[in-house]
Amino acid sequence: MAIQVLPPQLANQIAAGEVVERPASVIKELVENSLDAGATRVDIDIDKGGSKLIRIRDNGGGIPKGELALALARHATSKVQTLEDLEAILSFGFRGEALASISSVSRLTLTSRTAEQSEAWQAYAEGSEVAIKVMPAAHPVGTTIEVADLFFNTPARRRFLKSDKTEFTHIDEWLKRIALVRSDVHFSLSHNGKPVRQYRGAVTDAQYLQRLAQVAGRAFADSAIKVDCQHDGMRLSGYLQSPALCELVDCHYFYVNGRLIRDRLVNHAVRQAFGELGTFEQPAFVLSLTLDPHQVDVNVHPAKHEVRFHQARYVHDFILQVLQSALRQMQDLPLAVDAA
Ligand code: ADP
Ligand code: MG
Repeated sequence: MAIQVLPPQLANQIAAGEVVERPASVIKELVENSLDAGATRVDIDIDKGGSKLIRIRDNGGGIPKGELALALARHATSKVQTLEDLEAILSFGFRGEALASISSVSRLTLTSRTAEQSEAWQAYAEGSEVAIKVMPAAHPVGTTIEVADLFFNTPARRRFLKSDKTEFTHIDEWLKRIALVRSDVHFSLSHNGKPVRQYRGAVTDAQYLQRLAQVAGRAFADSAIKVDCQHDGMRLSGYLQSPALCELVDCHYFYVNGRLIRDRLVNHAVRQAFGELGTFEQPAFVLSLTLDPHQVDVNVHPAKHEVRFHQARYVHDFILQVLQSALRQMQDLPLAVDAA
């Protein structure tokens, strides 16, 4: 075959393979957009585990009428303009690919209104084949995105979807992760018309512990050790499983600048800190690290689960020390220097 440039729809569908694996990944992308738009409330409705319908409604800043079609175009983003922006990214999005990818494998309706507009507008795209039509609609300030019939035009992908229950579980799990780090935001989730989750906006410690209990159980929330330490532009805050609570709690979340990540270095620091106690195989934790975005590269993988720290050792040691001192205070263990 001669070399040819891929038609846009096919290029988008290929890109969709990287970010849109299942309904939960669509929800992740859409809710992150809502949070980037400053929403304080995000309502998620799904039908049949999300394979039939996903509807996300937010009260964020909205998309101006003139940018609706552009929002669905590939490599179109309002979040970065220059390489410098990318090197200091604090928003979830920056690739400008999610809406283009999702709309290439679904029937997508985007309805939005900004505070400056007196009415809302709606754009519809079906497998990005039809020209995007923009029509007037009724909607308060904010955005609603409906994704119907995910993978309707990519049958091989659709076959990979699991049962509604399994897809729901993935969505529910993802929502827990975001709910723990964005406690300021009210989230709700309905499945087949029935409300199933409600996370009320939490501002105080007590309200946060309420949310923690919803996600990780009463026993963990009631006995968790609070961590909050700042040093040299870095801050580590969150909760650790109390050594007094000897049960397995399935809650291992680490966030960097609000993004849930998996990182060997971080896991190592956590294991090392708890290792001294010898009580847990897998201590539970919800920890949030904030640092200068210049110090961390988030553009490592399309799904953004991985990051690279510029000063990896330094970050590791900071985490280790904060956790060790929190655990020692709790346990009243002798300091490592004394033992030496
Ligand atoms: P990215 O998030 O990487 O910028 P997306 O394809 O996810 O790319 O979104 C494209 C653009 O559409 C965003 O940059 C943003 O300007 C706009 N957008 C998407 N969702 C929303 C939303 N819920 N509220 C406001 N603007 C949105
Ligand atoms: Mg996005």
